[in-house]
Amino acid sequence: MRNKKDLFISSLLGGAIGDALGYSVELMNLGEIKSKFGEQGITDLQINQAIGKAIISDDTQMTLFTADGLMWAYDRCSQREIGSYAGNGVYQSYLRWYYTQTRKMPTEDYMFWLRRQPHEELDSILDYKQLFYQRAPGNTCLTALSSGQMGTMEKPINNSKGCGGVMRAAPVGLFLHRDPEHAFRIGAETAAITHGHPTGYLSAGVLAALIAELINGKNIIESAMSAIKILKSYTNHQETLSAIENAITLSNDNTNTEIAIGKLGEGWIAEEALAIALYCALKESDFRKALIMAVNHDGDSDSTGSICGNILGAYYGMEVIPKEWIENIELQDLIVDMSSKLFNISEKAYSSRSFKKRVKV
Ligand SMILES: [Mg+2]
Repeated sequence: MRNKKDLFISSLLGGAIGDALGYSVELMNLGEIKSKFGEQGITDLQINQAIGKAIISDDTQMTLFTADGLMWAYDRCSQREIGSYAGNGVYQSYLRWYYTQTRKMPTEDYMFWLRRQPHEELDSILDYKQLFYQRAPGNTCLTALSSGQMGTMEKPINNSKGCGGVMRAAPVGLFLHRDPEHAFRIGAETAAITHGHPTGYLSAGVLAALIAELINGKNIIESAMSAIKILKSYTNHQETLSAIENAITLSNDNTNTEIAIGKLGEGWIAEEALAIALYCALKESDFRKALIMAVNHDGDSDSTGSICGNILGAYYGMEVIPKEWIENIELQDLIVDMSSKLFNISEKAYSSRSFKKRVKV
């Protein structure tokens, strides 16, 4: 029997592990990775001697702020009887992330959002000093948030399709798993806060819908096909669609995996990061081998590792994740705790009929 709460946890832990594995080699090309780690490339988490754990990067930090923002939005919307996830919690939580990285807010007024909120009475995400460490934060996210304006699909904040929107979208798919179309829309809306190019936010919608379908019990290819069907209903979807279709086609043929990943790109931009992660998850069913495949390439290894880990974790569950990887990941307790809370509130939101009527859950 699949335990959904466990799948929430394993999706976010899997993402954090892929992020940490890739972060060690984020700025190396494949040749450099092999000359440092051997012909197989990097195959194990690198323990940071100062803290005794494998360190996570901005991908996992922002993923946790997405989870925080969704729970915040649920709390605010259920009280005010109106509102959207992006504008009522996720944007505010990304401003919190901006503060952790810069110790600034766009204006003084925004300092309000650093105060403890009702959804975090016992424990706040801002209590964790590790989230204040700079782990190669994305410039697009920093610049967009510094403007004090919230980007939307209708009013794009910029024309970026960097992978910063998709890499943090998994919690949306978990939280809204019962309605994959809604998950897609909220995934895209929350990515559009900082990434204004359609491919930048539609890739996040695809990941959210795909994760939702995995939680609902579909397998990876079935989930991808369902996400593609939803994607096609949005305008300007061709680029994202083409990247995902290439990933699926390559996963079904005998192309050497390094060559196949090279054909899909480097992952610095959204559709490539999603395509590489999906390709690895489809090509290799062993969690460890799939994540190793997802980070050993020329490009943005932590983001492709992170997205691949989110997918694998949501499908296969906790039992496939190597125990030593779980034990060695930085912020393991917070990740488990936030995933559990996200599950509990997702269940609560679904069972609240009056809330469902007002804010479609
Ligand atoms: Mg990163």
